[in-house]
Amino acid sequence: MPLPAETAPAETAREKVPVTAIPGDGIGREVMAAVRQVLDAAGARIAWEEALAGAEAFRKGISTGAPQETLDSIARTGVALKGPLETPVGYGEKSANVTLRKIFEMYGNVRPVRELPGIHTPFSGRGIDFVVVRENVEDVYAGIEHMQTPSVAQCLKLITEVGCERIVRLAAAVAEAEGRKKVTVATKANIMKLTEGMMKRVGEQVLKDYAGLTHEHMIVDNCAHQMVIRPEQFDVTVMTNMNGDILSDLAAGLVGGLGVAPSANLGDHVAMFEAVHGSAPQIAGKGIANPTALLLSALMLLRHIGDFATARKVEHALYVTLEEGRDLTGDIAPEGQGAPTRAFVERIIANLGRESEKVPEREYRPIALKQWPQITWYRAATTRELVGVDVFVESERDPHAIGITLGAAAEGSAFTLAGIGSRGAQVWPAMGGHTFLVDHFRARFLFKEPPKGNGITEITDLLQRIGRQHNWMHIEKLQRFDGAPAYSVA
Ligand code: NAD
Repeated sequence: MPLPAETAPAETAREKVPVTAIPGDGIGREVMAAVRQVLDAAGARIAWEEALAGAEAFRKGISTGAPQETLDSIARTGVALKGPLETPVGYGEKSANVTLRKIFEMYGNVRPVRELPGIHTPFSGRGIDFVVVRENVEDVYAGIEHMQTPSVAQCLKLITEVGCERIVRLAAAVAEAEGRKKVTVATKANIMKLTEGMMKRVGEQVLKDYAGLTHEHMIVDNCAHQMVIRPEQFDVTVMTNMNGDILSDLAAGLVGGLGVAPSANLGDHVAMFEAVHGSAPQIAGKGIANPTALLLSALMLLRHIGDFATARKVEHALYVTLEEGRDLTGDIAPEGQGAPTRAFVERIIANLGRESEKVPEREYRPIALKQWPQITWYRAATTRELVGVDVFVESERDPHAIGITLGAAAEGSAFTLAGIGSRGAQVWPAMGGHTFLVDHFRARFLFKEPPKGNGITEITDLLQRIGRQHNWMHIEKLQRFDGAPAYSVA
């Protein structure tokens, strides 16, 4: 889309970097216009391609919330600045944000967490300045859920080795691009030894390749605690999707909240920059929204396209404006002294060229993203043994009775019943505890002897035997890869 005449720059679009601008919903238009005004005034060499996504797209009948022209624009430019997108009620359950993230495999979410001048928080003066790198497409956010019984729900937590490797390498690349020194991998590996444990193991392995970086592992709940009691210790942190989701919001809270929190979604081919906040419908159209978060996101965009000088200029002008505290929007100004977005923007533009001592001096370089080949990631094991099967059954009976019936079902089969668990706790043979019982049990069957073939005949026979007395919902093979158990112990 051509730019309006009054903002058309002197240079030709050819000399500029094309960037897709998606204003989005609610205050999106206002903050996007504000940010473009500041960037244009600062001389950013950007040719904006305006594109539609969000509520308006849904209302036009586009079920993904992102029209093909928008996807084409992003694919073409590879860089987008995006406002908040709403999913209006009654237009399906798909979020346009998730659609964009998944279509372009933007696997890394990067959230800088830095104290800003003039934004007073209980942590002001601590010099908080770190980055949360969150895996963006795997984990429980794959959204693979099943009701196992009418009252027991399950969500699959899928973690892949390549997913861990690419997010850890991205965290290392962010550290190197910003001259940072330490990467903290935060996981729940002490409990989820295979999924979260994979992130810990891959992190430890991969970070050995980065001689200039120190690395550490931290249990994620302690990481949350440490972020509150000693946030200065962090430099770059990296986490799986849900942990990163929660801790990045916590981290944003330390420095002034979502309203001033920027972010980048990075993939091999596309980088999309956006404020963390939503569309703030209560204040939309009133001209009072704070554009700081989108402006900080735009600084990340400028550095991504290699325009470090403009990024620095805008950052200093923003800092000077916040420090002086004049014409701040209502959300960050003292009570009753809020200025309109327009005045705040004019103040930032007037401050272009001034320097603030509060901006941390960093030598930024572009984030050196590894390009991952489009292949099926497959890792063979040298040896593979099938040692048994977990069968999940629904039953209203007590564990002792279930043990008798499942034990009897296994008689004459290729298996022995090794134990029964309820939500991870062993209930048969009884351990003498006080486990609360529900109608969902995991029965572990082990092969009496290793199967001759692939074990399917034996498993089918066992399921038929169990099915005569119990409703079973799903099974999991118990395998050993290269001699190591590929399942959690009971
Ligand atoms: P929200 O961030 O829009 O609002 C939370 C609070 O912060 C409100 O009081 C709001 O007025 C205030 N606020 C947010 N941004 C502000 C700004 N720039 N200036 C001044 N005040 C600001 O969160 P919400 O109310 O939970 O969500 C509203 C809508 O936005 C929902 O439809 C949600 O799905 C969507 N949303 C989109 C994104 C995204 O596109 N990335 C993110 C979050 C929420």
